[in-house]
Amino acid sequence: MAIHYHCRHCKVKIGSLESVQSTEILGFHHLTSDERSTMLTHDSNGDIQVKVICEDCHEALTQNPEFYQLDTIIQ
Ligand SMILES: [Zn+2]
Repeated sequence: MAIHYHCRHCKVKIGSLESVQSTEILGFHHLTSDERSTMLTHDSNGDIQVKVICEDCHEALTQNPEFYQLDTIIQ
């Protein structure tokens, strides 16, 4: 399977890991089930989409915390 990372805010593609044999090495099992259900999406073909925050958004959020709250309300 492949793991695809996208920014949860601007939807930019951050990167992909191809031919992953086990999600154990990615540390997903350290997440709570809540975190897993919000961060991880399983595609029908077996790939996993991971929602993270890109550097640009992380910087924007650090400088404008209100922006993050706004985004949360929209979702
Ligand atoms: Zn972003």
